[in-house]
Amino acid sequence: MAKVLITGGGGFLGSHLADLLIAQGHEIIALDMAPLTKVKHLKDNPKFRYIEADVLDRDVVDSLVRRVDVVYHLAAVVGVEHYVGDPYKVLNVNVNGLQRVLHAAQLYEKRLVFSSTSEVYGRNPKVPWKEDDDRVLGSTQIDRWCYSTSKAIGEHFCFAFHKKFDLPVVVVRFFNVYGPRLDRADVGRVISIFAGQALRGEDVTVIGDGKQTRAFTYVSDACRALAAAGFEPRAVGKAINIGTDKETTVLEIAERMAKIAGKGSRVKFVKQEEIYGSSYEDIPRRVPDITLQREILKVEPKVGLDEGLRETLAWFRTQMG
Ligand code: UDP
Repeated sequence: MAKVLITGGGGFLGSHLADLLIAQGHEIIALDMAPLTKVKHLKDNPKFRYIEADVLDRDVVDSLVRRVDVVYHLAAVVGVEHYVGDPYKVLNVNVNGLQRVLHAAQLYEKRLVFSSTSEVYGRNPKVPWKEDDDRVLGSTQIDRWCYSTSKAIGEHFCFAFHKKFDLPVVVVRFFNVYGPRLDRADVGRVISIFAGQALRGEDVTVIGDGKQTRAFTYVSDACRALAAAGFEPRAVGKAINIGTDKETTVLEIAERMAKIAGKGSRVKFVKQEEIYGSSYEDIPRRVPDITLQREILKVEPKVGLDEGLRETLAWFRTQMG
């Protein structure tokens, strides 16, 4: 059994990863800036420790990385409202946080899993995307792309450390992971926004014509793949898409969530500028090729959209009281 550090271990993915790894018998140290919120249930678990500190703090990161066998670096600033609202924070935390972790991993020779994103492919029109497909991004004048760019710099650093110092790194690229503990209702990603609206019976705000697509991936499926990335020898040195290959339109998500919530919500089409201003650009289609996830990580997504949305809405309902 291994000792594992999860940076961002108090967040959405980190909390689910901690649950899974503890169930597999591993010991977890979670590093996170936020108070314990999403991992409250693990507080008294002897296999879990929570350190409330900043991933930019070199001393803290060094001392924690030294103590473990594997590091999952999930700490990052995520969410379109941040990309267009505070691009400095996105770039600073995502790029410099990884620097601290890479240095420590190199110093103590530890395996590192870096959480990257499907955003690195940008709006490449040719879906499904394989890991070596092109990145197609807009201008640096459009703040939306700062997140994609921050993660792509991170990936380059990971591969450079692998090449130059033989650091065992794995890059994983997540595709629209959702599930309980995602965010507060109404903020962050589309599922949280629609959840708040649908559970109150308000109009669900679909941006544009709703024909844009995503591969909505349930968190338990994503975490099985993420966990495997820390231990599977064949994953080292690779980038691997984590997700489902089932493509869904945003309109379909809105309609399904409205139906499951059962409060009579209707779809309202809105212009993207109304929600995110001019520094936003949507991505028309986003679908992964998940051959590597299947072959190397041995993970097949199992949870269908209706089941996943039901679980997710049930959680949001408890949060909203
Ligand atoms: N979206 C929407 N209504 C909203 C918020 C988002 O239709 O109130 C759309 C958004 O334009 C995008 C998709 O939902 O096409 C997913 O957005 P999200 O912010 O979750 O992240 P992305 O997948 O774009 O990174």
